[in-house]
Amino acid sequence: MTQPGRSGAASPDADRHWLLEAISLSRCCPPSASAFSVGAVLVGADGAVMSTGYSRECTPVDHAEEVALARIGLPGAAPLGSAAQNGVDLAGATLYSSLEPCAARASRPTPCADLIIASGIGRVVIAWREPPIFVPGGGAVRLRQAGLAVIVVPELASSARAVNAHLLSG
Ligand SMILES: [Zn+2]
Repeated sequence: MTQPGRSGAASPDADRHWLLEAISLSRCCPPSASAFSVGAVLVGADGAVMSTGYSRECTPVDHAEEVALARIGLPGAAPLGSAAQNGVDLAGATLYSSLEPCAARASRPTPCADLIIASGIGRVVIAWREPPIFVPGGGAVRLRQAGLAVIVVPELASSARAVNAHLLSG
């Protein structure tokens, strides 16, 4: 499904820039006592932003990644269809998310990791591994098993965590 050879194009500086943008978006999330605040930015192969999203942006159960995918015509809550069916080639695109995409979720049947895999996106860059507070983590492993490149930028994890401090202290 993915072509790893196409997916290493972004520079570390670009990755850092867009990940900081995703973390900034996470600060827009309506507060929640039971879900993380996450921001996501989808950047095309040409380096231009294709879409953005943040947790609970449109409805109280939205995840950041699915909002970003919905904006380009891949509705997260709908049955999975390939991005090609929607006329969007995302093999060279990179999804930046402040938090590891979920591999399980309580609010909707399809976790973001599966939405991302179905979209055809070739590369995912995250700042923070999902702590097993609400659901088990494991999104990065699932993405890698599907052939996507997953890059973790741990030096930005504390920034991604900061907006969620109220969920982590207890
Ligand atoms: Zn999710």
